[in-house]
Amino acid sequence: MPDRTDLLAKAHALDEADPLRGFRDRFLTPDGADVVAYLDGNSLGRPAGALPEHMDRFIHQQWGQRLIRGWTDEWLDWPVTVGDRLGRAALGAEPGQVVVADSTTVMLYKLARAAVAARPGRREIVLDTDNFPTDRYVLEGIAAERDLVLKWIETDPAAGITDEQVAAAVGPDTALVVFSHVAYRSGYLADAEAITRTAHRAGALVLWDLCHSAGSVPVELDEWGADFAVGCTYKYLNGGPGSPAFGYVNRRHHGSAQQPIWGWMGHREPFEMGPGYHPADGIRGVLSGTPPILAMLPLLAGLDMLEEAGIEAVRAKSLLLTEFALELAESWLFDRGVQLASPRESERRGGHITVRRADFREITDKLWDRGVIPDFRAPDGIRIGLAPLSTSFVEVHNGLAALRELVVA
Ligand SMILES: *Cc1c(COP(=O)(O)O)cnc(C)c1O
Repeated sequence: MPDRTDLLAKAHALDEADPLRGFRDRFLTPDGADVVAYLDGNSLGRPAGALPEHMDRFIHQQWGQRLIRGWTDEWLDWPVTVGDRLGRAALGAEPGQVVVADSTTVMLYKLARAAVAARPGRREIVLDTDNFPTDRYVLEGIAAERDLVLKWIETDPAAGITDEQVAAAVGPDTALVVFSHVAYRSGYLADAEAITRTAHRAGALVLWDLCHSAGSVPVELDEWGADFAVGCTYKYLNGGPGSPAFGYVNRRHHGSAQQPIWGWMGHREPFEMGPGYHPADGIRGVLSGTPPILAMLPLLAGLDMLEEAGIEAVRAKSLLLTEFALELAESWLFDRGVQLASPRESERRGGHITVRRADFREITDKLWDRGVIPDFRAPDGIRIGLAPLSTSFVEVHNGLAALRELVVA
């Protein structure tokens, strides 16, 4: 078994060889920050170092000088132009199919409602028991509202949804299936292309939740033939606390699928202020109210970095990071009653891993006190999220070394 010096030397060597290592210096590291290892960039990404200047420039030059004219200068277009950038950099979506607006929860509601309305006569929504809580709750609400039935697939919380399970669950009564591409607990990476095909064969529509994928693993919405997708921008995309969500509607549904929150910003002619709602053509029809322009600024800085790095290079580093975390856990934790609750095979692994032990809730508090910051996920999981652009291998080493000390104690 390699000892600590070997593993620390390995961490240094991995950092040395990392083609993305320069990006780490482009995140903000405020004076006096007490963080030893940030292992939660998959819940809230770090801010870009360029952000204070971007915000300052926006406030002085755009908001401060252009005032209301800013809306027609360009802000009204941001939901779609930023959506296009995101589609290209992270989602495998051709322009005109992605908007940035609302929260994931609200966007999910809007697109899931549009989807079930597009399959009249079919009464079932298929989802899985380990889907993220907001997804489960929103779909429960839609089922109650539209008199539909939820069909639950039992997924193993240490793994995730498989094509075989979906094939066994869908049928002529399925309107919609909703799954996470990367499971929020285990990090399991679903075979989205196969699952999409299986659902389509049954005549159902597919909505993917990409919260833990966007900016971490390559997503190919157009290639998969996905119908709808949603995701947040504050995780791997560094959009900041409360940054808006994105929504994808495949072009083939434009003009037919209709979302339920009819606001003026989704209207064909918002400034005519006329009677009656007539949705805008294309993806703009997904909008409801005034877009959160200020809250998109950090996302723009995040996208600058993602575009420069490229999602394939991000994925390559992500796999090395999780592989190294697994190696450390193997050497230090698994003989101490700690269990892995994530896939081992790299092709089924997203950007984080989860390890579990009965006392991990208390141990998480102790880690936070030491400046080692993973996430706790009930009932007993420590989730180690490794944002590729901002995390070093030495940081992973030092974080897990702190965990080792606590599990030995
Ligand atoms: C983080 C996350 C959300 C968050 O939804 P909000 O509306 O932004 O709070 C939804 N789904 C998944 C899978 C997530 O990981």
